[in-house]
Amino acid sequence: MSDDKEYMDTQDELLKKSDSDPVEHDKEDKEEYEKICFLCRRPESKAGKMIDLPNHIHICSDCMQKSFDAMQNSNINYNDLMNMPNVNMMDLSALQDRIPQNQKIKKKKEKKVEEKPALTIKDIPAPHKIKAQLDEYVIGQEHAKKVMSVAVYNHYKRILHPQSEDEIQIEKSNMLMIGPTGSGKTYLVQTLAKLLDVPLAITDATSLTEAGYIGDDIESVVSKLLAAADNDVERAEHGIIFIDEIDKIAKKKNTNQRDVSGEAVQQGMLKLLEGSEVEVPVGANSKNAMVPLTTVNTRNILFICGGAFPDLEVVIKERLNKQSSIGFKADLKDKYDNDPNILDKVTVEDLKTFGMVPEFIGRLPIIFTLQGLSVEMLVEILKKPKNAILKQYKKLLALDEVKLDFDDGALEAIAKLALAKETGARALRAIIEEFMLDIMYEIPKDDNIGQVIITREYIEHTGGPQIILRG
Ligand code: ADP
Repeated sequence: MSDDKEYMDTQDELLKKSDSDPVEHDKEDKEEYEKICFLCRRPESKAGKMIDLPNHIHICSDCMQKSFDAMQNSNINYNDLMNMPNVNMMDLSALQDRIPQNQKIKKKKEKKVEEKPALTIKDIPAPHKIKAQLDEYVIGQEHAKKVMSVAVYNHYKRILHPQSEDEIQIEKSNMLMIGPTGSGKTYLVQTLAKLLDVPLAITDATSLTEAGYIGDDIESVVSKLLAAADNDVERAEHGIIFIDEIDKIAKKKNTNQRDVSGEAVQQGMLKLLEGSEVEVPVGANSKNAMVPLTTVNTRNILFICGGAFPDLEVVIKERLNKQSSIGFKADLKDKYDNDPNILDKVTVEDLKTFGMVPEFIGRLPIIFTLQGLSVEMLVEILKKPKNAILKQYKKLLALDEVKLDFDDGALEAIAKLALAKETGARALRAIIEEFMLDIMYEIPKDDNIGQVIITREYIEHTGGPQIILRG
């Protein structure tokens, strides 16, 4: 008995020790995270060697020097000050909250020989393999998948093959995706990042504003990528940044005010897209005095912009009609009115007319479109992809040993309902959830039920699902 107690006590003590031992924590911090200057918040890799003070305070030599200079130049006699009653030396430790975990910067890894061999050109899957993997998740959008596979392959080839100045420079493969909402733009990028195992940051262009105005600074997109890469700068520098709703930062028409969330954001993004060293806040969306900063080079970051570009069709049609109404090739004026693939005919000129700045479009050399989803595609999305919604529900019911099936009519009816909502594939889940609620509620009540078939009548509210008992 006493042996047991002794054992428990030592275990408790060990636990306490490992939880709160500051020495252990310090050791960890020293090994993994950079020291940050208490005054200017720059990390060790930028500010140089730090002077360590008690209470985990580090000061860079620049700030130390500035403090000494300030003391010498001021007329205050510090000896007098210290001897005055009621004046205490400021307690720095009270100010120094330990830096929160999400603001720490991981040290650049020293190259270790036993680490995974660096990625080589042979390791990047060939475009047809990238596309085959995308096919497992994304339905249709064949052209978009093909263009993306080639662009991504070329992008990583460019990174892995260091270019010297006198060589032919391979241009960055930043992309612009144009397609209706819910057609799979974000999903394509997410799938791509997952299969390439690179960090991904997704931002909404509408949240960005020119620095100094309410909203997120443009550099915040890089901050997000850094967070996605666990504050590992090297990993972030090979990542992907997806900026959604890019059409919302088109130049505002007929405005006399400064366009801080439109044209100015496009201008501000130019140097990011091209590749430059940016100073970004770590663990925050904007720079301020209390946030550490680090430098990230965006040269090898792949930028993908996406947007629905409503009314771009009108711009394209106008251009095409103008072209075809003059000269020998004069055509019928309404020739393009019913063309479902009108978006495919988009040119850089059309995007400029839409309100995109020429320099901005120039930095997105790969432009392609996605199709709006048809009923047939929506049905495929329901049942085909690796983690299709139907497969998920089937698995859930299988755990209750009930077989779930949907007849073809039901799938078509669901797809038509989704199409009417005009939010693409996004509507599918909400519709299925609504119909499945009763089924998921009722089935576990009765152990005799062995199979449920969802019918068109059930979806169209003219009948119920078909229930088959075990037998
Ligand atoms: P958006 O084009 O507006 O970015 P999303 O990519 O966010 O649309 O699509 C919303 C959801 O719809 C995705 O999470 C995905 O599950 C589904 N989806 C959309 N398009 C497809 C598609 N072509 N194939 C498979 N699933 C899709």
